[in-house]
Amino acid sequence: MPRPIQARFDLGAFAHNLEVVRKAAPGVRAWAVVKANAYGHGLLRAAGAMRAADGFALLDLHEAARLREAGFAHPILLLQGVFEARDLDTVDALHLTPVMHHSAQIDMLQRATLRRPLDVYLKCNSGMNRLGFGTDAVPGAHARLKGMPQVKSVTLMTHFADADGPLGVADQMARFAPLGAQLEAPASMANSAAILRHAETHGDWVRPGIALYGASPFPDQSAAQLGLRPVMTLTSQIIALQTLKPGEGVGYGFKYRAMAETRIGIVACGYADGYPRHAPAGNAAGAPIMVDGMLTRTVGRVAMDMLYVDLTAVPQARLGSKVVLWGGDLPADDVAAAAGTVSYELFCALASRVPAIEI
Ligand SMILES: *Cc1c(COP(=O)(O)O)cnc(C)c1O
Repeated sequence: MPRPIQARFDLGAFAHNLEVVRKAAPGVRAWAVVKANAYGHGLLRAAGAMRAADGFALLDLHEAARLREAGFAHPILLLQGVFEARDLDTVDALHLTPVMHHSAQIDMLQRATLRRPLDVYLKCNSGMNRLGFGTDAVPGAHARLKGMPQVKSVTLMTHFADADGPLGVADQMARFAPLGAQLEAPASMANSAAILRHAETHGDWVRPGIALYGASPFPDQSAAQLGLRPVMTLTSQIIALQTLKPGEGVGYGFKYRAMAETRIGIVACGYADGYPRHAPAGNAAGAPIMVDGMLTRTVGRVAMDMLYVDLTAVPQARLGSKVVLWGGDLPADDVAAAAGTVSYELFCALASRVPAIEI
């Protein structure tokens, strides 16, 4: 028998969340961002459930090839473009849409012999200082691309550093927006946070990621408040029960010690399944977790294959009781917040050893 841990994927939630994005940015085309194995959700599963997207955005040529082999004819945006000249053979063969964020990439494209001209994205660094041409260099790069026989169209693109936070998008928009007007080029700016909060960023193509997976991009607004439905639910079971006497601890380092007699459930899920090891382990706090539908908390240090829950609030819990690590009524965002991270990281860390089922 396999371990009782399981990741369930609600395919209907993908379609629902894509609709939420469509309603937020009506009439705007949407790249479904499926990088990193669709944020841990399974590339082909996510793409299949979001066929209604206008295209897929990712980073890895292998992932692009898997989509093409599976029959997806959608545009595919390569978010970091190519890393070396021979990547362009694959870009050509698969007819991908590469981002150009550096002049070395434009040089490679200029030297390439392609079967068909490509749509390309020209990335502008509007202030995040990660990838892209400075605003001063964009018109030159744009003119260069427009003059190349390898290029069919050029879309301007930028990415926001704090669309989900208090700084918002104003400064970056003030730098980027005039370029689109000046060059009369289509534009793509918005990630999930910008789509849901900053309508002025919608442009011609939006790039939703986390919202499609049903988690919130915002620290101060829940996925449910945004009308999003979680796709992934990570469940397991209680595989042992312990009753600690006052002063006894559980797990490595005894990071938690019982103050009074305390029933503890041992859950078949650990950091090798993708549960965050840095979830709080001490007496003061713990990550939220559900046992038999009741909300309780983890205690002690997460181990490779197990973690521990306080069953004080769940007296009926027994061997085989159902545990929800995240998803369903327990937002991944809440677990992530307790562990000092974001739902993106929890999802991406889901281990391949966890059996997946689709509902
Ligand atoms: C990952 C990514 C996105 C999607 O961001 P979310 O916050 O998940 O919506 C959009 N654009 C770029 C360039 C990205 O790298």
